[in-house]
Amino acid sequence: MPISTPLTKMLGIRVPVIQGGMQWVGVPKLAAAVSEAGGLGILTALTQPSPDALRQAIRETRKLTSKPFGVNITLLPSITPPDYAGYARAAVEEGVRVFETAGNNPGTLIKYLKSQGCIVVHKCTTIRHAKSAEKLGVDLLSIDGFECAGHPGEDDVGGLVLMARAIRELNVPFVASGGIADARGLAASLALGAVGANMGTRFMCTVESPIHQNIKEKIVASTERDTVHIFRTLHNTARVYKNKVSMEVVAIEKRGNAKFEDIRDLVSGARGRQVYETGDPDFGIWSAGIAMGLINDIPTCEELLRTLEKEVAEIVGGLQQVIVTPETKSKL
Ligand code: NAD
Repeated sequence: MPISTPLTKMLGIRVPVIQGGMQWVGVPKLAAAVSEAGGLGILTALTQPSPDALRQAIRETRKLTSKPFGVNITLLPSITPPDYAGYARAAVEEGVRVFETAGNNPGTLIKYLKSQGCIVVHKCTTIRHAKSAEKLGVDLLSIDGFECAGHPGEDDVGGLVLMARAIRELNVPFVASGGIADARGLAASLALGAVGANMGTRFMCTVESPIHQNIKEKIVASTERDTVHIFRTLHNTARVYKNKVSMEVVAIEKRGNAKFEDIRDLVSGARGRQVYETGDPDFGIWSAGIAMGLINDIPTCEELLRTLEKEVAEIVGGLQQVIVTPETKSKL
């Protein structure tokens, strides 16, 4: 039975799941597969080398699906600062109506997208940033707990407390993000007041994900203990896969007074991309969340979302039975 929430209504999707932006992973094949399966697929703008290349990626995605999909634009420190405004303009001109924004100082970008009548989902890791985004007029927040892959911010608050705070404090709807990879996580997100869930690492490990099969198998074989935080000392914390390169970065940071230049060659995105292309998990830095501990298979996006829908219904039904047992009933 479909899970109808304000998210499914707002975006015109069947399953309340967004495939979050992922550098080198959010390409047409994956975004279209997620949208075709009933969720919201997301193209990651900066994965494309230029705004014109993003235009082509949008057209390619449209050939693969007639369902809605979105574009992620993430504003974080970069070795080569991207033309954010150019990417946004290209996507708007190509008719994209849903955007996931994330990162630092998103005001100008959000104002532009809202002025163009787009739906903006802003991803952030603190309630105070969520409130600022609300003031900028975002339609939806994606509240990202400390469990997440990539950049969790610097406050280190886990999803359970962050989502419970979000439902108390925020006026616009939110999706839960970070550490969600199965029906229990999605059902828990809904119970916490979210209108759906954002999943990243889970979608990396699907048939349509563009990364090398070895890396998908590595995710299946890994546990929630296989990530590490880098960039803590630079206040740009990122949760990444624990491998030789990330441990070397942590060791350099531990020595003290590390500058970005000291680790730049180790952490470059261009090097990390080779991991996904060659299948060597130790070649560079790659993002992964602790949700790896919950991932045991490599399904198609269709299989994944169908299973989520079915199991969420079972979990919610099961909870009702647990809550109203004859013993508890007599005490009511
Ligand atoms: P990159 O090669 O420019 O940088 C690699 C990593 O180093 C990134 O995590 C970046 O934030 C960090 N970094 C760069 N300069 C820094 C500095 N001066 N101080 C501290 N940290 C610094 O990154 P890339 O892999 O080519 O990605 C391009 C952009 O996309 C980066 O800004 C990255 O953070 C961002 N990103 C987006 C997503 C997404 O979901 N859309 C995911 C991961 C990263």
